Order: sequence, then C-alpha cells, then structure tokens
Amino acid sequence: MSIIELSHVYKTYQNDRHALKNISFSADAGDFIFLTGHSGAGKSTLFKILSAQESATSGSVSVFGKNMTEYDYHNIHEYRRQIGIIFQDFKLIPEITNRTNLEIPLSVLGKSRKDIDAELMQIVDLVGIKHSYLDEYPESLSGGEQQKIAVARAIIHRPKIIFADEPTGNLDKAASLNILMILKELTKWQTTVLFATHDENLMSQVQGKVIHLKNGEIESARL
Ligand code: ADP
Repeated sequence: MSIIELSHVYKTYQNDRHALKNISFSADAGDFIFLTGHSGAGKSTLFKILSAQESATSGSVSVFGKNMTEYDYHNIHEYRRQIGIIFQDFKLIPEITNRTNLEIPLSVLGKSRKDIDAELMQIVDLVGIKHSYLDEYPESLSGGEQQKIAVARAIIHRPKIIFADEPTGNLDKAASLNILMILKELTKWQTTVLFATHDENLMSQVQGKVIHLKNGEIESARL
C-alpha cells in the first residue's frame, strides 16, 4: 500500500484558476521526492492539500490508506501528528527560545518533562544543533541554523511524512546541502519526504524521485 496516493486531483480557486490539474502519483514509505516547477506551478497548493490545510476540488487524495475527506475538525489532529511541515521562511515563534519552539510539538502530545528533555536532545544531536543555541531566540541565529531548528521541530514527534516547501529557498549553498542531507537521512527510517525546490544543483546531490509541475500539471516525472 502506498503512503500517499493521488488520483486525478484538481484544485480550482474561485477565480476559475486551476492551481492543480489532473494530478496523479503515489509515494511509498522511505521515498524521497523532489517537487519542482517555477513559481505558480502549483507546489504550495499540493502541499496545502496534503497537509490538510485545503481540500481538493475533485479527484481523490489518500494518505496512510485513508481518504482525506474522512478527516474533519474532530480527527484532523490524528493526521497532523503523523506529518511534519517545513517552510521556506522557517516559521519559528520569535518570542520564545529555540528550546521552547522545539518543545511545543511534544508538550501537545502530553509527554512528561523527562521524556521531553530526552527526546529533544536526541533530535538536537541528530540534526546537529549546537546546545548553546537552545536558550537563544530564533532571530539571533543565521538562516541555516534557524532552518535546522525548524527541521528539528518538524521531526521531533517522529512523523511518517515530511512536507518541505522550498526549505532551502532562503539559504546559501552550504546550509542548503546540510538541510537536504538531514532530510535524506530520515528516509533510512522509512520516513517519506516531499521536497520542493528549483535548485538543480541541489537535486543532483542525492538520489530521489522527481515530479515536475508546470501550470498545475505534471509535465514530467521520474518515479
Ligand atoms: P507554487 O507553490 O508552485 O509557486 P502555488 O501553488 O502557490 O504555486 O500557485 C499555483 C497557482 O494557484 C498560481 O497561479 C496561484 O496564483 C494560484 N493560487 C494559489 N493560491 C490561491 C488562492 N488562495 N486563490 C486563488 N488562486 C490561488
């Protein structure tokens, strides 16, 4: 069974603009998939649908064997606990320390203080975050270091799928490669990663499947 399965998915906004047209693909556990395409191609729309922020206009989207239409206000948190999302602009909460940013996904799961501390340090070391950064605030770190905090926050609850929407768009070459390698490493634990980018050089650094979108359609794919 595929982890993600899309069949003939369309997303049409009110202005009759087709943000997605006839999208079909599937992804398995441990797949690393690059999602490419120019600005406006539909990458963010696809992420919004897969992360349950928006629904498809038609077609079917199923994740973990369950159609997305089966999720509603009452059970959507079950789904969100199994995914992790990374954004181009990090979206860390500026008013709280990096440590508190990282603790939030574990606190909402009702974990004990002891478990939170242990799991936090495991992820911090996995991602390669300096311990001294934990008690600083996000804005005192470089973009690359902030994105590492954001990656740690996205994976701290051990999601089965990571949606990374142009996670290296604001980073220099070295920091981009670092983030790519961290995310690639997760596939060893059968995590599925969808990674949007238009950086061809970055894509050549690791083995991955590729879905190329153009004007909302899959123009080409290497799956
Ligand atoms: P990408 O992430 O590849 O840059 P998007 O998914 O953001 O592309 O956008 C795909 C298309 O859908 C674009 O033409 C965009 O203008 C349109 N679009 C995206 N979101 C909305 C919205 N909320 N309302 C109307 N049109 C939208």
